Amino acid sequence: LKATGKDPYPDWKAGDPVPYAALCTTFSLVEMTTKRLIILAHCSLFLQQVLRLTPNDLLPTVQLMINKLAADYAGIELGIGESLIMKAIGESTGRSLQVIKADQHEIGDLGLVAAKSRGNQPTMFKPKPLTVRGVHEGLLGIAKVQGHGSQDKKISGIKKLLSAADSATSGKGNKGVDITKDKGGPSEAKFIVRFLEGKLRLGLAERTVLVALAQAIVTHEAAVAGEKSPTPERLAEGESVLKTVYSELPSYEVIIPAMLEHGLFDLPKVCKLQPGVPLKPMLAKPTKSITEVLDRFEGKEFTCEYKYDGERAQIHFVAPDHIHKYPGSVATLQKDQKGLSAIFSRNSEDLSKKYPDVLGKLDSWVQKDVNSFVLDCETVAWDTVNKKVLPFQQLMTRKRKDVKAEDVKVKVCVFAFDLLFFNGEPCVKKSLRERRELLHKCFQPIEGEFQFAQFGNTNVLDEIQDLLDESVKASCEGLMVKMLDTAESGYEPSKRSRNWLKVKKDYLAGVGDSLDLVVLGAYYGRGKRTSVYGAFLLAAYNPNTDKYETICNIGTGFSETRLEELHEELTPLVIDRPKPFYSHSTVPKDQPDVWFEPRLVWEVKTADLTLSPRYKAAADDFEGTTGGGKGVSLRFPRFIKSRDDKKPEQATTTRAVAEMYRKQEAVAQETSGKRGVD
Ligand code: ATP
Repeated sequence: LKATGKDPYPDWKAGDPVPYAALCTTFSLVEMTTKRLIILAHCSLFLQQVLRLTPNDLLPTVQLMINKLAADYAGIELGIGESLIMKAIGESTGRSLQVIKADQHEIGDLGLVAAKSRGNQPTMFKPKPLTVRGVHEGLLGIAKVQGHGSQDKKISGIKKLLSAADSATSGKGNKGVDITKDKGGPSEAKFIVRFLEGKLRLGLAERTVLVALAQAIVTHEAAVAGEKSPTPERLAEGESVLKTVYSELPSYEVIIPAMLEHGLFDLPKVCKLQPGVPLKPMLAKPTKSITEVLDRFEGKEFTCEYKYDGERAQIHFVAPDHIHKYPGSVATLQKDQKGLSAIFSRNSEDLSKKYPDVLGKLDSWVQKDVNSFVLDCETVAWDTVNKKVLPFQQLMTRKRKDVKAEDVKVKVCVFAFDLLFFNGEPCVKKSLRERRELLHKCFQPIEGEFQFAQFGNTNVLDEIQDLLDESVKASCEGLMVKMLDTAESGYEPSKRSRNWLKVKKDYLAGVGDSLDLVVLGAYYGRGKRTSVYGAFLLAAYNPNTDKYETICNIGTGFSETRLEELHEELTPLVIDRPKPFYSHSTVPKDQPDVWFEPRLVWEVKTADLTLSPRYKAAADDFEGTTGGGKGVSLRFPRFIKSRDDKKPEQATTTRAVAEMYRKQEAVAQETSGKRGVD
């Protein structure tokens, strides 16, 4: 690609706003290949052109590429429902809703329906071309509308964008082609609608955009300095700098302007973890036994903490006279005379409105001379009478939004297990032992309100077993075993690390971890249950192809009341037919009665895993072994709980599913081998 030496979009001149058509051309090039390196090259070339011609538009360009209008903590969600979009397409193209619905039924992709509708429309005059910045602003306006009459305002916002959008399905803008078959093509209408739905479906992972951005800026900086194309080592160095910075400060709003001002390689000096911008939390690897833990950590110092069963909470605080030091953070967060304080979820969602009772007390946890901190904690429902932890289900009954501190019925206790930033300095590179000492020295536990995670530093098997039993008696899920000293015990944002191992009580003898799966469809119940759904079709997520691959039907673990609630919760998510990015058997008898938008994530346990032609999870992985078509499926799956803190894209990946299956097979072979010897 580079060899052509040409700009991918020749009509755009320096200083012009980035044409949206240019971005769509890149999208369609990406859409036409599954090769990651080619995708990366298209994105990098396009971003180089943005950097050279219109660097001020780099931020909205990257945001449109990752299908996000702002950082997660800004709480700006699109994901607009099908019916609203269909109405807007109809109204903006003069076609009746009935016709749009019929098209959607036939085509099954609203993006293509929009492109077709625009293509059929006679154009009296040529609308002013869309720009990336204009589309970003338009979409942001649509996402932010709230309250009375918001539906109409959203529809009118969508109509405005669609009326200016081009429908072309090939580079030449040919009309009248059969666009019910998606041949790719830079249709603006198609990509606007897909953005509104919350999924571009290009097979373009967010991580790839990050790497492309790093490559583009390294190449651009070299060109500006009059140097030759950067070496692969220099590109890799740039990639690593940007990845590290982004993992501590996942906000393009802060990083991109700083990168344009200071250059990529000086970014780590100016963009560090800061209170007010949530970092992606460190995660743990599952283990099946205490002996597996001992094998992994042999010869190293480690610590075993209780694994509390509540909700992850990253708590940020800045005293009033220090807020000016953290400009990236203040825009969206609440401030009062006590300073800036916020609680973020595992997903970086702002949970401050859910926990005003916790935020109101932050100042009583700390010593006087504390001016800023970021704590990693778990909030757990608390029994104020018996002074003990309550099960997770109790926490789930708490209201999520606009909670008033005085009305809170389910009290929570915050269990702090890590300190990531303290008095102006990130602590993530310190060892866990140092971070823990600082936490214990500078914070003050208050029973039932703010406590330190219980722990024991031991490497003796029996003592670990005792700790595990005690943790379970204290209503915890098990243990988190963490590296304590050495560089390996640093905090690794956004990583599922081997330096944190989880040992859950109920999978010690089972498959390993439970799975978090997305609900794609349902079957009506039988007998008493005909008015509700009796079973559900679940899927794992494949981040490489951006598809949901089915893995099991589940009908066990639900109470009657739960089934009624689920029916109510799922009805608004019903769609006409499966989305094109669902992968499931096509055999008629395997089809569910209804399909849903991919929204709900459930934690599910299973007895074991098997291969089945009915499901498609990781089917590509086993293509060779099974002769094709068979995916991994769960045997005797059981519903554990809803994972409201996870988005569908954070469900268990098909790769993890394949790994679980392989592990199980390896154990089975080992045991049968041993039996043979016996
Ligand atoms: P899980 O279903 O196990 O919660 P997960 O993918 O959300 O899976 P994991 O990394 O597997 O996250 O488990 C770590 C989770 O356990 C953290 O996200 C946190 O919410 C919770 N937790 C409870 N106690 C601790 C602790 N002492 N240290 C770290 N995490 C803890």
